[in-house]
Amino acid sequence: IQVIKILMANGVMANINQMVDFDTAAIVASELGFEATLEVEEEVKETETGEIPFWRQIIANEDSSKLVNRPPVVTILGHVDHGKTTLLDAIRHSEVAAGEAGGITQHIGAYQVEHKGKLITFLDTPGHAAFTAMRARGAQGADIVILVVAANDGIMPQTREAIAHARAARVPIIVALNKIDRPDANPDFVKKQLADLDLVPDEWDGNTMVVPVSAKQKTGIEDLLEAILLVSESMDIKANPSSNQIIGTVIEAELDHGKGVMATLLVQNGSLEVGDVILAGKAVGKLRAMFDFHGKKIRKAGPSSPVQVMGLSDVPEAGELFQVYSSEKEARLIAEERKAQVQQKSINAPKASLESLFNRIQAGETKELRLIIKADVQGSLEPITTALNEIEKGDVNINVLYSETGDIGENDVNLASASKAIIVGFNVQADSNAKRLAEVEGVSIRLYEIIYRLTEDVEKALKGMLEPEF
Ligand code: GDP
Repeated sequence: IQVIKILMANGVMANINQMVDFDTAAIVASELGFEATLEVEEEVKETETGEIPFWRQIIANEDSSKLVNRPPVVTILGHVDHGKTTLLDAIRHSEVAAGEAGGITQHIGAYQVEHKGKLITFLDTPGHAAFTAMRARGAQGADIVILVVAANDGIMPQTREAIAHARAARVPIIVALNKIDRPDANPDFVKKQLADLDLVPDEWDGNTMVVPVSAKQKTGIEDLLEAILLVSESMDIKANPSSNQIIGTVIEAELDHGKGVMATLLVQNGSLEVGDVILAGKAVGKLRAMFDFHGKKIRKAGPSSPVQVMGLSDVPEAGELFQVYSSEKEARLIAEERKAQVQQKSINAPKASLESLFNRIQAGETKELRLIIKADVQGSLEPITTALNEIEKGDVNINVLYSETGDIGENDVNLASASKAIIVGFNVQADSNAKRLAEVEGVSIRLYEIIYRLTEDVEKALKGMLEPEF
């Protein structure tokens, strides 16, 4: 608490879980009469789910001599009205993929642009819903997150949420500092806010690229594309285009009354071809036709390509994985099994709850109790985090993904589901959509009005004595 007071006195609005940079820590230390020394540690970023998406596991098991670079897949996140849609449009119009000029560009949920001879795939469904849907199904598809922050507005609740998402999925963040054209833009202020969230701009010797852009005036777009290529070059973005393990993610899908099921797929390994039999969630089918994002008919699509396909029996859900099968019969059989499982699941919804979490802790599957905390007022959040930090927890770690004020909404449930976290509410309610979703996803929401009851429950959960709450 004393450290926080000193931080506040120095203009840093810190909370108990927050990381501060070395210089700040040194100032606080000296005020407390200590001298700080910097110890360089191996960077440990494994804070959250730690699960590797299935398609990434498949690529990891490929013969490394067969792996080639694939275009990075980029998703844009940020607070509402900070300019995600405008930015996606500006990028789309900045560079039309080579050789495709003049094609009809339609929105199919993803597109590609070419910059300096290299392709970049953008997921065209801004907002967290699509991103979390993917993560919740273990199919995290993006390699890089572009975090849009309006330079006049700064960090807002959904910005924090987006950072939590990206970190949980261990996807690097590039910041697009948008609306830089506005007279009230205050880029330095926003950079400072970012640094306080441990996204220290590279110009301040940090490790986060912060690119000033104006989506509206279409300035800075080239720099942003450049930054994406730079970051992706430092990563291992590869796949085996000739693999017989052809796998990817459903980006979106709908029933068209003339054409049947139209699904946009992102190929992640192998190459998808017309005539392939695919299983996507519970939907099966032989691909009758395939189109690129210009609406042009194609026969084959390699890793990181977004394609629209026709031929599926049912509408798969966004975020579900698809895989190519050699036998249509086998694919149908698995689809039937999945349908049966879903019915079973809805009868006894699994609880991603405190109780089941304890079982996972016991089984050594996790050493972390992940919490999302929602409270009525800012003033409640701090004593809650303090109390949680004082709990005797043995070798289990309590990880607060984020804590903020406001009622519990669908976004919170989505993140909890994807991160196997529990939602703890203090003097707040869960809205009806959130309740319904929590039921379906088996996410535990626990509401409290007294802090010690909350900490008591967490303590019990850690000891495995908690009674289920119905
Ligand atoms: P989203 O909710 O994040 O998708 O935000 P939108 O792309 O819909 O943009 C919200 C509003 O901000 C719209 O009125 C845009 O015209 C405006 N806007 C977006 N980018 C910029 C920009 O670079 N400069 C200015 N001045 N306005 C912008």
